[in-house]
Amino acid sequence: MTLPRSSEALDLKGLLPEQLRQLAVEMGEAAYRGDQLFAWVHGRGETCLESMSNLPLRLRRSLAEAGARVTRLHLLERRDSGTGMAVKFIFGDGGGGQFESVLILDGRRRTLCLSSQVGCPLDCSFCATGRMGFVRNLTAAQIVDQLLQVHASAAAEGLGRITNVVMMGMGEPLLNYDAVTTALRLIQRPGGASVGGRRITVSTAGYLPGIRRLAEDNLNVGLAISLNATTDEVREGLMPINRKWTIADLLEAARYYFDRQGRRVTFEYVLLRGVTDTEEDAVRLAELTAEVPCKINLIPYNELPPGDPEAPVFRRPGRKRIEAFRRRLESRTKRTVRLRESRGRDIDAACGQLYRRPT
Ligand code: SAH
Repeated sequence: MTLPRSSEALDLKGLLPEQLRQLAVEMGEAAYRGDQLFAWVHGRGETCLESMSNLPLRLRRSLAEAGARVTRLHLLERRDSGTGMAVKFIFGDGGGGQFESVLILDGRRRTLCLSSQVGCPLDCSFCATGRMGFVRNLTAAQIVDQLLQVHASAAAEGLGRITNVVMMGMGEPLLNYDAVTTALRLIQRPGGASVGGRRITVSTAGYLPGIRRLAEDNLNVGLAISLNATTDEVREGLMPINRKWTIADLLEAARYYFDRQGRRVTFEYVLLRGVTDTEEDAVRLAELTAEVPCKINLIPYNELPPGDPEAPVFRRPGRKRIEAFRRRLESRTKRTVRLRESRGRDIDAACGQLYRRPT
């Protein structure tokens, strides 16, 4: 194991407990000092080395001299949904970029939707984040800190701990693999946020090499694949990544994930009026997923504010059409089908609505 060393300062927030232990040993201290550091950073949210009172002064000084620090995201804005079911947190990345996390409150479940990148390179035609283009990858520390900060504010408001984490915010998590998986390891550790892998889901637009890698890693998290269409022709029109990896590739990858991880993949399917919500689509979706152990989440499209006049405009199907699609699908499949109503549409915090104009 090597410690990340770069000309930039060493961010302790992005290091695993074993890396912190190694760092302590390199500085001539006992290994357990690394665990204490982890508890300060991830358990208590401390960012000031000086304040870590149970660490020897010598170690605090050596860390500071080595350029170690603990970063903290800058919270720019918070928006509470009028429904009381969603809160959006807007953070600055320190370089003029902005990204968002969304807390979704649903009974006893408190799910935090995390961003993995500022913007996204995949350019899906129906998604607001795609319109931003790619700005930059978030670091492991920046991914974890979204959770630490929301945790802290939820605790202060008596809301209780975050119970579930989904990597479904801005960005394609599997294109920022190392930072995302380090963050998900950090999040799972006891003494830190301690959200277990059973309650973490990574969502991908279908970056196949990333899916295979995740299947082979022992990260123990759930996988969601944004399928969104039942023919390659339609999918290619919506998601350029389909030119490289097709629906058949994704079905095979989902099976591979199940074989390796023992967990059913969730297929997300966005209902776009007249594009993906036809009777034939419902039938094909049932057929495509018949041989793959999976669950299906239907997401009625959240319409975007007008943007580029050249860009295609998509519509949300009406209630009746959504219900008809669901019924038709359910009558043809043994898979669990859920209709996922996005929360927080009133604060632009619903699926596909995360967009920040570069400042
Ligand atoms: N890049 C990853 C993570 C983002 S998750 C992925 O594509 O899976 C965002 C989810 O919201 C995806 O399933 C996407 O298909 C869906 N989505 C995007 N724009 C949407 C919109 N306007 N309305 C509803 N769902 C949308």
